[in-house]
Amino acid sequence: MNFHKSKELFEKAKTLLPGGVNSPVRAFKSVGGTPVFIKRAEGAYLYDEDGNRYIELINSWGPMILGHAHPKIQKAIAEALPNSFSYGAPTRKEIEMAELICQMVPSIEKVRMVNSGTEACMSAIRVARGYTGRNKIIKFEGCYHGHGDSFLIAAGSGAYTMGSPDSLGVTQGVANDTLTAPYNDLDAVKKLIEANPKQIACIIVEPVVGNMGCVLPQKGFLEGLRAICNQEGIILIFDEVMTGFRLARGGAQELFGVTPDMTTLGKIIGGGLPVGAYGGKKEIMDSVSPVGKVYQAGTLSGNPIAMAAGYAMLTELNENPQIYQKLEQITQKIVEGLKKTLQKLNLAYTINQIGSMYSLFFTNKQVIDFQTAKTSNTEIFGKYFHKMLQKGVYLAPSQFESLFVSVALSDSDIEHILQANEESLAEIH
Ligand code: PMP
Repeated sequence: MNFHKSKELFEKAKTLLPGGVNSPVRAFKSVGGTPVFIKRAEGAYLYDEDGNRYIELINSWGPMILGHAHPKIQKAIAEALPNSFSYGAPTRKEIEMAELICQMVPSIEKVRMVNSGTEACMSAIRVARGYTGRNKIIKFEGCYHGHGDSFLIAAGSGAYTMGSPDSLGVTQGVANDTLTAPYNDLDAVKKLIEANPKQIACIIVEPVVGNMGCVLPQKGFLEGLRAICNQEGIILIFDEVMTGFRLARGGAQELFGVTPDMTTLGKIIGGGLPVGAYGGKKEIMDSVSPVGKVYQAGTLSGNPIAMAAGYAMLTELNENPQIYQKLEQITQKIVEGLKKTLQKLNLAYTINQIGSMYSLFFTNKQVIDFQTAKTSNTEIFGKYFHKMLQKGVYLAPSQFESLFVSVALSDSDIEHILQANEESLAEIH
């Protein structure tokens, strides 16, 4: 496998785009080497500019649950195209889309479409602040909610400390209003609330984390957050940008039976086109302009092409619940095979999996939060990543990202993945 054209393109791209990319993780910085430049994708496969084919295990960071260029989504987009691409005015499709989202995720009684997961999360916390009249938010270390200023906050040395900005350009003023706790740690949350009485507007959480690798909520964690929020008048926001419509038709909230006040959605609801949404209880959502006094807007929000793609995607998922069993079966096969390989090679690494999300962590520790995720050996991960790429399997180019399985994977693709895993792990140890 050679990467001549990707290398050439990367050199040129670096002269025009910061780091050669439009989103940092794509630059392969944490795994080293040259990112592959993608030309097209179909079903379970990505094809790069050099003509190499890869089996997909990222699927555009989640949304391609049905595989790439799915015919029903293509058809929906093709049918929408002749009617022009944006009106900046309301359409029938937006109502249909909202109806479908509210039906599939019953905790969402009203919804507002935006253009990305970042926008969804930024807007949701603004609404929570407006509705409660409180300023502070609690997020969890290692959870990612997009690049809104309030979310780019690293934890201090303990649960009591103020956050400090994680990125230049985020002011200390903003950081002071974001409090952080370790994931799965209810006591830390309680202490933050005690130290900031009646000041917390919301708790935002990935109900299953995708952004420190795949990390599951421990028994009682989500239920505990729900109880604390009820008691303290705090709005509970589930960030289901990755888990919504992936872990179950109704997302992680359906799977775990815990109901948030608000939910943020992204990528998946556009079928791969730039879409996000936030929604929740009617009473809370009616704080949003033009009904209420929380301002939030978007020229391209509810874009007709994106709505057509998203509606086709959600309809397919809604009408074919067996997709979720299939996703689970495929992922189980991959994970079981991977476990056997680890045993055979006498490697004590950790695998976290739920539904169609999984991660192999290069650590022998149980991974339950950011601190334990960080015990992974990222150098070995980098080597593993490149071995897999050479063998035609495209993984997320960072240890701290979940993998996402699609229904497009065939038995022979799974075989290919398992063989590549075994060879790669054997070669680097
Ligand atoms: N929330 C979560 C849980 C995410 O995983 C992401 C992106 N990976 C976002 C929010 C931000 O979404 P976007 O990249 O579409 O802005």
